[in-house]
Amino acid sequence: MKKQIVFNDFSLLWQEVRKDTLRAIDRVGKNGQYILGEEVKSFEKKLAEFWGLPYAVTCGNGLDAIEICLRCLNLKPEQKVITTPLSAFATSLAILRAGGQPVFVDTDQRGLIDLEKVEQMLQKNPDIRFLVPVHLYGYALNLKRLKQLKHTYGLTIVEDCAQAIGAKSHNRPVGSVGDMAAVSFYPTKNLGCIGDGGAVLTKQAKFARLAKYLRSYGDTEKYHHKYLGLNSRLDEIQAAILKIRLRQLPKRLRQRQKIARRYGQEINHSKITIPSAPDDSDSSWHLFPVLIKGSRRSFQMHLKKAGVPTLIHYPKLIPQQPAIRQANIFADLTNASTFARQEVSLPIHPYLNDSQVERIILACNTWKK
Ligand SMILES: *Cc1c(COP(=O)(O)O)cnc(C)c1O
Repeated sequence: MKKQIVFNDFSLLWQEVRKDTLRAIDRVGKNGQYILGEEVKSFEKKLAEFWGLPYAVTCGNGLDAIEICLRCLNLKPEQKVITTPLSAFATSLAILRAGGQPVFVDTDQRGLIDLEKVEQMLQKNPDIRFLVPVHLYGYALNLKRLKQLKHTYGLTIVEDCAQAIGAKSHNRPVGSVGDMAAVSFYPTKNLGCIGDGGAVLTKQAKFARLAKYLRSYGDTEKYHHKYLGLNSRLDEIQAAILKIRLRQLPKRLRQRQKIARRYGQEINHSKITIPSAPDDSDSSWHLFPVLIKGSRRSFQMHLKKAGVPTLIHYPKLIPQQPAIRQANIFADLTNASTFARQEVSLPIHPYLNDSQVERIILACNTWKK
């Protein structure tokens, strides 16, 4: 029996960072400052540098990061926010928690929100001011087009970069066109911590300042609460750990890219479609989605028997989730529905070795549909 491949290899990751991590935890433990101290401050500086944006403000998780962005940008109750039906539920949940109303626009052929359809929606509904696009799977949306839309329609944009740290479009980092961007450090993400974590990024000092107030009860000075904030702070321990992992991120991104290139070249099956990354972009390859014509179940079972785990992102569209079925507006979602029915994500974590990558490719190519 061949050894099972895993979807994310936390044990090899831990081996790699164990020594440095234990040292970092010891440093924080001794230091005695566990919340909002020097570790958070220096990680924020390093994250902003890595990203190429002036300000990074950490918070408790990616969900809160999106909510904090929308609140910094003054989203009003019931205000409409265009977003994608195909994403983690958190994208729309954050919009709802910030008081907004998601308006769902269909995706394109690779599962990204279709910016042409966004424009049609804006032409029909001139009252819409907000857009929360998602760089899904690590694919970078076309930032030139996004910028055009922003200027033409006076849009306020929060880029959901939870899956896309390191991704670029036309040589510019994702998150650099929106007014603000949100990222998650959930353990499975490309930059993960040992627990929950998140951050917002922005070019504007005033939004960074506001985000700092909002993440910690909304006080602008001690015991003076100007805003109804959250308790959403990144722990010092997580910040110390993330600094270690951030140093390795470029290497890990290159490994993901290498695996993606092999999949793209070597997976060859008439019923498997590989949606390529957008032109002029570098994907962060958080996930490697393929579309299965025929029985998705049979494909997944075949891979499972070969020791290859798969996941689906996402089997159910956000507007169909029971928690919000009442509350949403959407038009035709044909492409997104195709993804919900046909998408399968293959393992692409950076600790896969060549022979495992070969096994995954072989398993795909030998599926008898
Ligand atoms: C993971 C994720 C989030 C939420 O991040 P959490 O840290 O889990 O709250 C939001 N949007 C997308 C696209 C995600 O993948």
